[in-house]
Amino acid sequence: MKKEKFKKITGFDLLSKVIEGIDYALSLSMPLKVNTVILKEVNDDEIFDLVDFARERKVELRFIEYMPLGGNSDWERYFVSEKEIKEKIKERYELLPLRKEKIAGVYEVREKETPFSSGQKIGFISTISNPFCNSCSRIRITSDGKIVLCLFDKKSYDIKAFLRPFIREEELFNFIRETVKLKPEGYIKYKRESLTFEENSFLVMRKMGG
Ligand code: SF4
Repeated sequence: MKKEKFKKITGFDLLSKVIEGIDYALSLSMPLKVNTVILKEVNDDEIFDLVDFARERKVELRFIEYMPLGGNSDWERYFVSEKEIKEKIKERYELLPLRKEKIAGVYEVREKETPFSSGQKIGFISTISNPFCNSCSRIRITSDGKIVLCLFDKKSYDIKAFLRPFIREEELFNFIRETVKLKPEGYIKYKRESLTFEENSFLVMRKMGG
């Protein structure tokens, strides 16, 4: 939420553009969720700023725990858990559990001692403190046409061959059907086998599509 800090984290002085983008999407009534990652001693003093930003705009805010991906070998130094974030929020607001999705626990933020619903939702995606790999249905596709089954998987599977020079739809679907069966347990395996940072593959998120 702070211009200088945004620049330091991302390398770009573009906070106002990001906010403009969010506001524009909202002006078009697009369904929107804003994801954010809290980092210890970097932006953990901005939890209320983020909650208030979301409340002003009535947009759902999601706190995603920081993960050991893409070269951040000192990730534990920056890690802030769901529990810590909730404790901070509860200093000012009540958090009422609304629903448990496959990947996120969703809460309503309410002013303390107010019986009225604020309608403001906050979600927590806590891969580290509450891993949900066993029910994760996410796969991703990279910009160069490869399927990635898990953020903690070393492998990727090329589907471009089914799309160039022409689309071979049936073969593509069959390939995807077979490939998703190989989805690994991701972070749960990393933890169970006490893999080190070097032993696992860590994808760079900015190269990855959703
Ligand atoms: S299976 Fe992989 S992508 Fe899914 S939650 Fe676990 S680590 Fe993340």
